[in-house]
Amino acid sequence: MLIVQKFGGTSLAGEERIRQAAQWVTQVAKRGSRVVAVVSAQGTTTDDLIKQAISLNPRVSAREMDAYLATGEQISAGLLSMAIQAMGYPVISLTGWQAGIFTDHTHGNAVILGLDNNRVVTELDQGKIVVVTGFQGINAAGDITTLGRGGSDTTAVALAGCLGADLCQIYTDVAGVYDKDPHLYPDAVKFDWVSYEKMRRLIAGGAQVLHDRSVELAQKFGLSLEVLSSFTGQPGTIVCGET
Ligand code: ASP
Ligand code: MG
Repeated sequence: MLIVQKFGGTSLAGEERIRQAAQWVTQVAKRGSRVVAVVSAQGTTTDDLIKQAISLNPRVSAREMDAYLATGEQISAGLLSMAIQAMGYPVISLTGWQAGIFTDHTHGNAVILGLDNNRVVTELDQGKIVVVTGFQGINAAGDITTLGRGGSDTTAVALAGCLGADLCQIYTDVAGVYDKDPHLYPDAVKFDWVSYEKMRRLIAGGAQVLHDRSVELAQKFGLSLEVLSSFTGQPGTIVCGET
């Protein structure tokens, strides 16, 4: 059994939440399954980095912006790995390029073209938990690219698809996928499951719970996603095919 778990920014904002995320990861390892964790930058880090960069240079090049923004996820990967290590589990953190994520040249909104999963598989074979930075890859020029805002979901799905994972869990700050934004509407209703098509319609209508490309990619792989709360770990919403 192989599970990919992705942790969003709120799920990693602060020491307690990082420890909680590490709990979800190690719980899978404890059951004897393999686990890859994909991380976003903590809290508002990406917004803060963008503001800083633009303040210094309003015409910052897309290449430099990407190299800079990618550091947010690197901090998260480092911290989550350290928390997992502290719980006594073997773990390794990898950046997007170390994890073999190759993209096109579109800085700021790069598309994943291919994935060489050799390194990740080698580390899993050695019994390690693998933590991968979301949101980023490397292009043919050897430069760091980013996948667009919210792109860590797509990293998780790409890895899960290429590794043949049994499940891809997206840990977030809501309990699942709702008919409307639960942060704004207290009467929002949570779905037990939604089809890929319905999920894509919800995203087109403004839902931000998943990156649009991650759903397309999951559908292509026939991979089931589970969107769930990192605070409670209660069963969330499954995004899957109709059957
Ligand atoms: N940290 C990036 C962002 O804020 C990517 C992500 O969260 O998925 O957009
Ligand atoms: Mg997100």
